[in-house]
Amino acid sequence: MSTYQYPFRGKFRITCRFGKKGSWAAGWHIGNDIVGDDNPTIYPICAGTVQSINGHGKAYGNHICMKHDDGMVSLYAHLKNISVKVGQKVTLNTPLGIMGATGNANGAHLHLELHRSIWKYPAKGSSPETATWLIDAVSWIEDHVKEGEKMIEAKDLTVSVKDKLVTVKAVNVDGSNYVLLRDVPKLMPVISIGYDENRKMPKIE
Ligand SMILES: [Zn+2]
Repeated sequence: MSTYQYPFRGKFRITCRFGKKGSWAAGWHIGNDIVGDDNPTIYPICAGTVQSINGHGKAYGNHICMKHDDGMVSLYAHLKNISVKVGQKVTLNTPLGIMGATGNANGAHLHLELHRSIWKYPAKGSSPETATWLIDAVSWIEDHVKEGEKMIEAKDLTVSVKDKLVTVKAVNVDGSNYVLLRDVPKLMPVISIGYDENRKMPKIE
């Protein structure tokens, strides 16, 4: 199983989630918008090879498309600058460039997409259910992140929310349960979620 990581070091926030409906060409947000608060350097979410640079249209601004060994393709958009070349092999520690606001972007952020096997923009009127090659990168990273040497294993946790039972995925660390990011909105209204450096203390707004 390939190891994944978040694209920022230090604190970051997810400001627009995958699947949100809106005025995008597809009618929904096909990636995750992430802001690196401590460090604007962007790292690959998985080791791989740079497939193309600025190959998918001006709306993405300066952008990188990357192929990973497990067949997944990731895209990093709106960069201020890019520090890799087409064909270059990258590790988890290779800086790709700096977060920016090039292309269609209000303010500096990373727009991160994850596709199965090839990059493909979905048709208008599609949805996350019909565009099955598009993956929520944040959820995918959560399922493929390593803590030290071992993969983190998330288990079902049933909790009571306003007298209703809700099942969420959670990771148990030293006896405490940490709910996966994707399931936090099941528990409370959420605008944005940030993490501290070791990802154990989500800050929820
Ligand atoms: Zn976006």
